[in-house]
Amino acid sequence: MRVHAYAAPAAGQPLAPTTIERRDVGPNDVLIEITHAGICHSDIHTVNGDWGPQPFPVVPGHEIVGVVTAVGTEVGTEVGTHRVGDRVGVGCMVNSCGHCANCRNGDEQYCLNGMVGTYAATDRDGSTTQGGYSTHVVVDAGFVLRVPEGIDSAAAAPLLCAGITTYSPLRHWGAGPGKRVAVVGLGGLGHMGVKLAHAMGAEVTVLSQSLKKQEDGLRLGADAYFATSDPDTFTELAGRFDLIVNTVSAPIDVDAYLSLLAVGGALVNVGAPAEPLSLNVFSLIGGRRSYAGSMIGGIAETQEMLDFCAEHGIGAEVEVIPADRVNEAYERVLASDVRYRFVIDAATLR
Ligand SMILES: [Zn+2]
Ligand SMILES: [Zn+2]
Repeated sequence: MRVHAYAAPAAGQPLAPTTIERRDVGPNDVLIEITHAGICHSDIHTVNGDWGPQPFPVVPGHEIVGVVTAVGTEVGTEVGTHRVGDRVGVGCMVNSCGHCANCRNGDEQYCLNGMVGTYAATDRDGSTTQGGYSTHVVVDAGFVLRVPEGIDSAAAAPLLCAGITTYSPLRHWGAGPGKRVAVVGLGGLGHMGVKLAHAMGAEVTVLSQSLKKQEDGLRLGADAYFATSDPDTFTELAGRFDLIVNTVSAPIDVDAYLSLLAVGGALVNVGAPAEPLSLNVFSLIGGRRSYAGSMIGGIAETQEMLDFCAEHGIGAEVEVIPADRVNEAYERVLASDVRYRFVIDAATLR
């Protein structure tokens, strides 16, 4: 099936309209007519070649929401699987081995044989995956999520990456009532971190470069907001947090952030700086602290996150754009000029 898409033809080149081939709907596949695709910073890193050579042309997009228009012969035979007409989502991965210890444990994102990314990755059949800046996609039913009623489709799309990327560490490190959580950076990931941690019942603090977005941060659910450019912040908040989720991909002074943790606290990176970071191990030892990382979440956990968002009336803050503004949107993401996620209206791809 030949479908419309927006692709980067080569590293650093602007995205342009094109058509791509989608595979036939196999027995376990779902054909999705895409309605919305979020723009993630990872899309920009990938097409700019920041993360190494890519199989161009690349159609980015791993925050996908759409409607099921066909299912394979094996799909829909069990309760809870996908039916034609269902509203569904696809996130950062579209396949994994299914049999390693991590897959069996529901941690498909950490598949020991390599999970298959939604775009610019080699699928298990040897083909190259192409992402959500497209009118249609064919995905293995096991990697398709149900989008519950009550979440707007545009606001749901960024949940598939930004939402689960922050939800998973918040859950893993026990964000909830009585816990003090800090979110570093109030961008696409950070604004979801604030909403989710607040909905989980934690006391939430935003640590941002400046106080520019303070009003937004408090509106999104933060209890407090501090500027990291102010050295007093680190004195005032010393030893305060049980969990700090760092969404910033620029390098940070790790020791300074570790000093904000209470005994037993954890600093968790979900943003990934390109350069190695250094830290003084005494910063960990002196408070039984942990420095950790986390990458998206498993499929079952992603469904749990979507259900949690529906239950709590949470969606991303989005600016919906037509496809022909995607290059301009990339510029604005790089300039941190988006509150808080661009979402492409896929109808404009036709
Ligand atoms: Zn992403
Ligand atoms: Zn696996």
